[in-house]
Amino acid sequence: MNTTDRPILRMVGVSQQYGTGHTAVSALAGIDLDVHRGELVAVMGASGSGKSTLLAVAGGLQIPTAGEVIVEGEHLADLTAGQLAALRRRSLGFVFQDYNLIPTLTASENITLPLELDGIGSRAARRAAKDALAGVGLEDRGDAYPDDLSGGQQQRVAIARAVVGGRRLILADEPTGALDTVTGEQVMRLLRTRVDAGAGAILVTHEARHAAWADRIVFLRDGRIVDETHRERVEDVVAIGGVR
Ligand code: ADP
Ligand code: MG
Repeated sequence: MNTTDRPILRMVGVSQQYGTGHTAVSALAGIDLDVHRGELVAVMGASGSGKSTLLAVAGGLQIPTAGEVIVEGEHLADLTAGQLAALRRRSLGFVFQDYNLIPTLTASENITLPLELDGIGSRAARRAAKDALAGVGLEDRGDAYPDDLSGGQQQRVAIARAVVGGRRLILADEPTGALDTVTGEQVMRLLRTRVDAGAGAILVTHEARHAAWADRIVFLRDGRIVDETHRERVEDVVAIGGVR
């Protein structure tokens, strides 16, 4: 298979069970999902439908009970813990609702830390961080600490960290949830730009207007994909309020 056609992420028959016996919860039940370069996939569904679990499994934060997760051709289950950590740092960017920046590090240091962990020299890491911050319109704020930044600025730093160093799969769990409407739109525009530049992304969101930025919307219920809407229909679905 041509590597440019190969999905960045492939999930095949993925199930995730928590606990055992009569208290067992089936958080994911047979998920098949591919994400390609240049593709932004929105995931919607009620609370408890498995959205966050899907992201955690896609990003190798947990190994599913069953099924295969393949990131850029690598079967995550076959990797050692060290290989998995390296793949996560190299290929994956996570963005969470609460930003997850380290408060005692500057914006720039928050971005360089994973690069330096991956053995990139500090000068090159600083340059990459500078470029990444410029890419989110924060070139002047590299020395600021998270507490000195607004929520929207912190989220933009988190996105810069998620894409720095050519990370190609962005996994975002309600990244606009804590932001006002205008800032939320800015974050979506930024995510869309990074995807158009060649990344793949999964965006978990409750907001129809944010899902409208996606190429596809996948609907989860009880850990299953129950519906899927493609680009041509995304705007219709959003317009008629069919997305909850
Ligand atoms: P969502 O993000 O859509 O709200 P989650 O993926 O967080 O859904 O949760 C899916 C289901 O799995 C829920 O029933 C939740 O209670 C359960 N769950 C999630 N994480 C755990 C865990 N670590 N241990 C046990 N149950 C969990
Ligand atoms: Mg969740």
